[in-house]
Amino acid sequence: MENIKTNIEKVNEKKAAAAAKAGRNADDVLLVGVTKTRTAEEINKGIDAGLTDIGENKVQEIMDKYDFVKPVKWHMIGHLQTNKVKYIIDKVSMIHSVDSYKLAEEINKRAGQHQLTMDILIQVNSAQEESKFGISTDETEELIRRVLENCPNIRIRGLMCIAPFAEDPDDIRVYFAEVKKLYDQYGTIEHERLDFQYLSMGMSHDFEAAIQEGSNLIRVGTAIFGERDYSKKN
Ligand SMILES: *Cc1c(COP(=O)(O)O)cnc(C)c1O
Repeated sequence: MENIKTNIEKVNEKKAAAAAKAGRNADDVLLVGVTKTRTAEEINKGIDAGLTDIGENKVQEIMDKYDFVKPVKWHMIGHLQTNKVKYIIDKVSMIHSVDSYKLAEEINKRAGQHQLTMDILIQVNSAQEESKFGISTDETEELIRRVLENCPNIRIRGLMCIAPFAEDPDDIRVYFAEVKKLYDQYGTIEHERLDFQYLSMGMSHDFEAAIQEGSNLIRVGTAIFGERDYSKKN
């Protein structure tokens, strides 16, 4: 049995050290515990140990666990199909994975039906990996402007990226740095529904590198809950 509490403490220590190295405050970096494949019971242990925010990458898992998990902020961090937006629109506090206008339009529509404003991040694929979702850096600004213009029920809170896997996280720092540059640039756009506060970058194996490149929201699963076992159902 993984000791979730100890693991969270370790992640928080590393987070603080990385922030200090970058001349920043540990409190400026939000830890989102990634709970995919984990049971509600395990998630509740994480919440008892201090997690305030959790991330899931599948709509189905959010729906299955939602009623059994203690009050917490849910983040949708995985690829989201337009036809599933309706199931999570009133459950999550932020959607990190918006990478097309079509998806934003659907989020806008469903948010309107629930009379809420949804916080989103634009997912940028700065390494231009074919296998990954996310919009290219060239198209990011156009997507932001289109969403601001046409989606009154969406507030854009920042950017998200998933870096390619590298044995040595220092090798992928350039991809984080590139998204940080865009974050600083687009964060200055003057609009009532653009309020950049989150740069979501960094997972278990690369969050220290990401923090040093400016991340202020890290999505950490394995380092908290242990290796995932996809063979057993949840
Ligand atoms: C699974 C996942 C994570 C966490 O990955 P770990 O390596 O377990 O920390 C972060 N972000 C996204 C989008 C994920 O799907």
